Amino acid sequence: MMKGSCACGSVTFQITGEPDNLSYCHCSRCRKTAGVFAPFLEGSIDDFKLLSGAENIKRFQPNPDMKYVRCFCENCGSALWVEAESKGIYDIVATTLDTDLVTRPMAHIYAASKPNWHDITDNIPIYAEHYRNETKD
Ligand SMILES: [Zn+2]
Ligand SMILES: [Zn+2]
Repeated sequence: MMKGSCACGSVTFQITGEPDNLSYCHCSRCRKTAGVFAPFLEGSIDDFKLLSGAENIKRFQPNPDMKYVRCFCENCGSALWVEAESKGIYDIVATTLDTDLVTRPMAHIYAASKPNWHDITDNIPIYAEHYRNETKD
């Protein structure tokens, strides 16, 4: 079982089972809300459980052509996840994890949106948009 939390510790959650994938998202929303890129961990929504802090979670709905609501802690500003229940999955920012992760990153996505001062220097496959060819953010 994996555990995660925001920086102030208000929001805590657990994940059971193996995540499906981990990818680095370089889109403009991740750049502004999570850092230079956001490591998104996805798996079955049934494996995710919020343990505390529901009252501290704020939701940000981007402009209509971007469908997913982004959640963050109102106390400390930690980027938490995007709401992806409609796809049957959790989609959390992996920097919130407090336990080690076996899953390794499999893709850089939305690399076309990364800042020009950030060079990708690893050997993980790079996609201009999403490898699933759909709008995620
Ligand atoms: Zn917090
Ligand atoms: Zn993104």
